[in-house]
Amino acid sequence: MKDFAFATVAELSAALAARQCSALELTDAALAKIAAAQPTLNAFVSVDPDGARAAAKAADAARAKGEGGALTGIPIAQKDLFMTEGLRTTCSSKMLANFVAPYDAHIVTALKQAGTVLIGKTAMDEFAMGSSTETSFFGIVHNPWQPEAVPGGSSGGSAVAVAAGLVPAATGSDTGGSIRQPASFCGITGIKPTYGICSRYGMVAFASSLDQAGPMARSAEDCALLLTAMAGHDVRDATSLPHPKEDYSRELAQPAAAKPLEGVRIGLPDAFFGDGIDAPVLAAVEAALVELRALGAATVPVSLPNIDYSVPTYYVLAPAEASSNLSRFDGVRYGHRAAQYTDLFDMYQKTRAEGFGDEVKRRILVGTYVLSHGYYDAYYLKAQKVRRLIADDYQAAFAQCDVILGPTVPTTAPSLGAQMQDPIQMYLNDIFTIGANLAGLPAMSVPCGFTPNGLPIGMQLQGPYFSEARLLNIAHRFQQATDWHRRTPKETRHA
Ligand code: GLN
Repeated sequence: MKDFAFATVAELSAALAARQCSALELTDAALAKIAAAQPTLNAFVSVDPDGARAAAKAADAARAKGEGGALTGIPIAQKDLFMTEGLRTTCSSKMLANFVAPYDAHIVTALKQAGTVLIGKTAMDEFAMGSSTETSFFGIVHNPWQPEAVPGGSSGGSAVAVAAGLVPAATGSDTGGSIRQPASFCGITGIKPTYGICSRYGMVAFASSLDQAGPMARSAEDCALLLTAMAGHDVRDATSLPHPKEDYSRELAQPAAAKPLEGVRIGLPDAFFGDGIDAPVLAAVEAALVELRALGAATVPVSLPNIDYSVPTYYVLAPAEASSNLSRFDGVRYGHRAAQYTDLFDMYQKTRAEGFGDEVKRRILVGTYVLSHGYYDAYYLKAQKVRRLIADDYQAAFAQCDVILGPTVPTTAPSLGAQMQDPIQMYLNDIFTIGANLAGLPAMSVPCGFTPNGLPIGMQLQGPYFSEARLLNIAHRFQQATDWHRRTPKETRHA
């Protein structure tokens, strides 16, 4: 078999269709690459060679009969907070270190039905709380571009698995930026869809009103293929939207015109281009704007006057919801249980003290505090009102533009350990991503450059509700004109 290292999903799909390789060969190659990379990158919590090879054989059999679709036989990884029947789902927590779910999450089923081959589960910040994947119970994960840099988080394992070429695509979840920020730090493409597009059934809840699943891959084209399979109404999730099934690739398939973005108005909020952005990040995003204008897009200034309140608003609401969601981990029904205890309350206390890491405990404490009698109005209710203002700001901005653009994160990937002692600093770095979660809007990160020392830079596109197809098309046209998304860690380090 030819070496398909760093090939996209679309390319692998074409190779499978042309019988240049089999799903089993791709699966074996992915398993070998993961085994080789695990000691240095640590992107995976679990790998399922037997399940993967069985699924690959089924995919090959389907293709041999002329059945299946674009994703049939494509190896993928799932973030380890999506329930997978028979394969443990840990959320990178000691609390669930040995938990094997009795069923598949909706998106896991959907991707299996689309013919993908589940290779394994990727490391994350514990219960998706964090921005660096350093809070994983299973050890830190390294950025393939620079091993001493964090991969970002919380979907850091998925970002690394794709960036290092271990799998062509993976899933992530995004509560405040956890798909987009690690995508940006690892030089890949990722999209968080409109809230309610992907069912949360079987996705372990962090902050239910903010959590959304989405794909992470090398290109916008690949994200469109995956999102088409993942999205869709599901009666098992009360927040799943009865939105008709969409083909998110539909705009991408149209032939490239000389000015494919003619008529697209890109809004540039002043708040996304202000102080505190690293110079190489700003320069890369501005260079991308030059490219987008050359492709026909127009840029217009817009304003999001309340966006500065997004971080404090999020860090009230997300912990509040987390404190409620995580109360289920009590040692009674499943998960970790303390070995020694005197009575029921002692068992609860010791189980939770032993099972949760520091960041999770910090969120539970903050969440319990802001929901407590006497503080509820001052914090939780206030934050809900500000959330509404932020959502209204976006609606006003989208009256003047089709999409909003800015850096995904003000910085590139920090060094390992740099933020662990200073959670507030870490929280502040979520400033550009959180607004889309508070408002429920789709948003994606697209590679747009590198720092002089070789760390990837991402730009973010945010759009109105249900504008995924348009966001993906804008990113696709940008990627047709640039090659940032095609760079690989090895190349750059030797360049
Ligand atoms: N960094 C954010 C947090 O720590 C976002 C996490 C996420 O999106 N899951 O909460």
